[in-house]
Amino acid sequence: MNFIETRGNDGQHPLMVSFSEAILSPIASFGGLYSPEALPVLGGDFFADHMDADYKSLARDILAAFDVDIEQAVIDEALALYDRFDDPANPVPVVKVREDLYVSELWHGPTRAFKDMALQPFGTVLSSLAQQRGEEYLILAATSGDTGPAALETFKNRANVRVACMYPDGGTSDVQRLQMVTEDAANLKVIGIKGDFDDAQSALKRLLGSDTFRQKLREKQIYLSAANSVNFGRIIFQTIYHVHSYLELVRQGAIALGDKVYLDVPSGNFGNALGGYYAMKMGLPVAKILIASNRNNVLTQLINTGRYDLRNRDVVPTTSPAMDILKSSNIERVLFDLFGAERTRALMQQLDEERHYELSADELARLQAIFAADFCDDEEGKRYIKQTFADGYLMDPHTATCLKAYENCRSEPLKTIVYSTAEWTKFSPVIANALTGEEGASDIDALKSIAAAAKIEIPAIISGLFSKPIAQKSVIDKRDIEQAILDFL
Ligand SMILES: *Cc1c(COP(=O)(O)O)cnc(C)c1O
Repeated sequence: MNFIETRGNDGQHPLMVSFSEAILSPIASFGGLYSPEALPVLGGDFFADHMDADYKSLARDILAAFDVDIEQAVIDEALALYDRFDDPANPVPVVKVREDLYVSELWHGPTRAFKDMALQPFGTVLSSLAQQRGEEYLILAATSGDTGPAALETFKNRANVRVACMYPDGGTSDVQRLQMVTEDAANLKVIGIKGDFDDAQSALKRLLGSDTFRQKLREKQIYLSAANSVNFGRIIFQTIYHVHSYLELVRQGAIALGDKVYLDVPSGNFGNALGGYYAMKMGLPVAKILIASNRNNVLTQLINTGRYDLRNRDVVPTTSPAMDILKSSNIERVLFDLFGAERTRALMQQLDEERHYELSADELARLQAIFAADFCDDEEGKRYIKQTFADGYLMDPHTATCLKAYENCRSEPLKTIVYSTAEWTKFSPVIANALTGEEGASDIDALKSIAAAAKIEIPAIISGLFSKPIAQKSVIDKRDIEQAILDFL
């Protein structure tokens, strides 16, 4: 499978790259992204043949259909990481919550959030490619909470890759901070920044774009790469669980093979939803993909009106912080797929320069044939958490945003798969507040009160964090970031 560029070619980049090249240098001409030239078609037989396949065999066969240029032994080693999830036989349980509402739980990996689904295998693939080429890579990450722990976890002690991860000191939950600062490995550096997430993110962008920084790295023979979801190496692993979740519904007798379903996705950078879109294009019977947002509802506006508008808008902090995003990177790959490179480049350029763009009526109709969208504010989210808990299911605030889309965006009474992106342990103060009304609890107190209310245990992997030694102690001024990273290298 070859990859082509969403904004066309500038004459400096190759016209087409392989999967491994798209992973190692994910940024294409004009600041665009790499997208598959054509998607494999799985077809009805593929689904019927995989009715009894376990997650890893299904994953192996979907990757084979993509025909990626990665050795089978590396793929097998990468997929073996799903054996470290709670249930190696089924790393992604799908749970019935109501008559036609099923929750696909994507958080049974080591950091208890959905980033593990892709970053776990991606870490093996990237490290193996770096070793084969005899090259050293630095992965830079800025995180508001979930990407950081998942990137550190997947790359720790891996050969030829180092990670420098920046987080806003005081801007993450206790659990998320502890997951990062207790990571102890020589190839990892965690840096707390005196500032907010935007400060960490701008520092990252400055370094990624800085020629002098790149030059200093080259003197040390180190290349720079990124592990966020613009990297197709993450997206490919996010097509698999959509197929798996559908087959689970068939296995559970909820639908017959071929019946259509809704996919309902809590969205930020649109990587999860893009995986669903590709699965649909590869033949998965999907009626529509419902895009759930919080008050940072640029995607709701785009899908309902055709306008993407960042003018007079700032990120609003919410109780679903992993979705507090205004520039949702992966929607670009949908625009490219539907409208082509020339149009995508014009739209993205307008967004960069004028901070808005608008689709034509015809383009909007094509988008709406695939997606529907709604957003949910924090108060509504809390009500959904409470209501669903009364029905016997505990969900996190990101997952809760999907309930509004489930109620408002379906035009047919079809079974709906809601994607759950975080375990309750990661956002416990919000959940405790929703369930009991208590305000301002620390993470550990909130964990205890939820565990008592739900009559469940706090998983050892989370409770153990509070007594683990702190290995990463840097908290620095944002001006000192570059020097701190160079010192680490
Ligand atoms: C990253 C994340 C999301 C958003 O996923 P995208 O693929 O960026 O749309 C939603 N919920 C949680 C908990 C996350 O960590």
